[in-house]
Amino acid sequence: MDTVIDIKTEEMLKVENLTKKFLIKKQKMPWQKKKYVHVLNGINFTINEGEAFGLVGESGCGKSTTAKVIMDIYSPTTGSIKYNSTELTGLKGKEKKAIRKDIQYVFQDPMGALNPRIAVIEQIYEPLIIHYGRKGHKEYYKKAVDLLESVGMKEAHGKMYPHQLSGGQRQRVVLARAMILEPEMLICDEPISALDVSIQAQVVNLLMKIREEKGITLLFISHDLSMVRHLCDRTVVMYMGNIVEFADRETLFNNPLHPYTKSLINAIPIPDPRIKREETILEGEIPSLLHPPSGCRFHPRCPIAMPECSIREPELKILPDGRQAACLALEEGVKS
Ligand code: SF4
Repeated sequence: MDTVIDIKTEEMLKVENLTKKFLIKKQKMPWQKKKYVHVLNGINFTINEGEAFGLVGESGCGKSTTAKVIMDIYSPTTGSIKYNSTELTGLKGKEKKAIRKDIQYVFQDPMGALNPRIAVIEQIYEPLIIHYGRKGHKEYYKKAVDLLESVGMKEAHGKMYPHQLSGGQRQRVVLARAMILEPEMLICDEPISALDVSIQAQVVNLLMKIREEKGITLLFISHDLSMVRHLCDRTVVMYMGNIVEFADRETLFNNPLHPYTKSLINAIPIPDPRIKREETILEGEIPSLLHPPSGCRFHPRCPIAMPECSIREPELKILPDGRQAACLALEEGVKS
């Protein structure tokens, strides 16, 4: 059942015209050209305070790169990221440290995110030492135990090392560590993809609980649309570095319009075999970002592609029902 949570309309994170390219071939001789791969091509979205915001698409669509640029793991090529109206790009020193503590990142691979040689409780309170110094060690320990318990684990687990815990427990530890600085926003980058299916729903339910209890804003990145549907109020669908559709939960999942979104949603398994739905099987592999298709990047795989689609690139436009989509077949009578 969908949880009803108060979402304020204040903008918390505003991403504007975000682009990211990576250098893949250096210029060794003056006559040689540098070569870049363009991973993000002008991404725009706004996350409101208290909302759970989804970013979905197949691997390589740019969703994790978007998160890493927001987290300053990669610097953007161009564009702006504002957090509560403060520009994050180019922020340095104390100002950066202060604002960064309010946005925490939950990694895809909990094993890789934890130090195998340090007991997990120490890893949970480590961010407090980094931000506030070593003094309040006792309080840090107590706070870490409280958090460990709030994610459904016991104090005894804190004395263990990451390899002694299950995958689901490790992800709970990573969540507890992300929460210790009492952030306003959590960016969860494929937080369930490394977990067994049986554990995935538990971690998503835990995220819902954290959000409900702490009023935290979530950016949830996943290729699993069933989990996104369960958790997110609004969702952006990405394909090869572009946003192709953006809508609230009901609009997106009950009536997807972009052919790519349709195929992703149609691929979600239905538990009841008596329920039939329109088949839109996504064929072919995602083309290489080194040689993206001309026009609409989705045209080689699109079941309704028109001749124009390989020539003209569709823009993301606002449709009459308020959603945004980038598809030439949907363009008549829409606003840019
Ligand atoms: Fe398909 Fe053309 Fe729309 Fe692209 S623009 S999604 S190819 S119909």
